[in-house]
Amino acid sequence: MRSDVEDRDKVSCCFCRGRFFNLLFSAFDFDKGKEVFHLKKCVQCHLVRTEPILSQDQVQKYYSLPYYGTGKEKFKGLAETITYWLNYRRAGSVLSHLESKQGFSVGTSPRILDIGCGRGNLLRILKDKGCECYGLERVEFPDIGPSKGIHFLKGNLNEQLFEESSFDEVILWHVLEHTDNPMAILKETARIIRPGGIVAMAVPNFGSFQAKLFQSAWFHLDLPRHTYHFDPNTLSQCLNRSGFKLIGKNTFSIEQNPFGFIQSFFNKLPFTRPNRFYALLKKIDGSSSLFSLLVWAGGAALILPFALLEYLVSGILGKGATLCVYAEKQ
Ligand SMILES: [Zn+2]
Repeated sequence: MRSDVEDRDKVSCCFCRGRFFNLLFSAFDFDKGKEVFHLKKCVQCHLVRTEPILSQDQVQKYYSLPYYGTGKEKFKGLAETITYWLNYRRAGSVLSHLESKQGFSVGTSPRILDIGCGRGNLLRILKDKGCECYGLERVEFPDIGPSKGIHFLKGNLNEQLFEESSFDEVILWHVLEHTDNPMAILKETARIIRPGGIVAMAVPNFGSFQAKLFQSAWFHLDLPRHTYHFDPNTLSQCLNRSGFKLIGKNTFSIEQNPFGFIQSFFNKLPFTRPNRFYALLKKIDGSSSLFSLLVWAGGAALILPFALLEYLVSGILGKGATLCVYAEKQ
């Protein structure tokens, strides 16, 4: 680690207000691999952030249409089916944590907000299971068609003026790492959840084996869209400060971790563009020729056994690439 402590009196740490940061390493942007960003760790609280810190206007160009996918479906065929199955499983987990709490009776209609709801796939399943569902997305997100009884909203969380203690559960699935002030988001989330209610969240695990192995080539850095990089300790302290008590934690994510290993491995190869396999799967740049896809998929198949082994071992050790957390509002 290079020691590069500097005084940033303009933008202090969002958690501890500290003004001194160590440079961990620098890495290229996710999409084109041409812009350089720096990962810096707060000397006091160890929260890691991306610098330079971009304004909201500057950030918006990284959320252009290709980020969300150009077609109705983000991934093709089989991948879309797998995504549905994963959302179905996640919906079960979201509800089971709520049902395990005292004071919540099965049969009532829990009020759930999914911040960063994407196309609302998780909410549609929760709606079918009897929940009253709200979804929030960025204003740049493409319209998703009929809402089927789900309240889809656009904009920032603090613009919505939700009533205090008005939700039983709030979902922040791969959202917090995208925000310019995670503490502000967590405090507002705590305000709108009733006491005893649940926040369900997932973030890339910066303390994972993958993050340490691949460093600047790690797929889940996703620069500069990921503005903060959490490990179990820094996420716990943010939750505690916001009024939550941790009730569940794991680092298994079959959706994120093995693919992250495979794409990060490819990113280490000298002759490839960054995140090329992912771009092909998402049809980014319009370059999704079947031949290219098959070549990359063949390479991925060779690495898959190692990716699955890493998924299992790291997950058991609590060092998996995704940090999934459930916390109760105090
Ligand atoms: Zn700090």
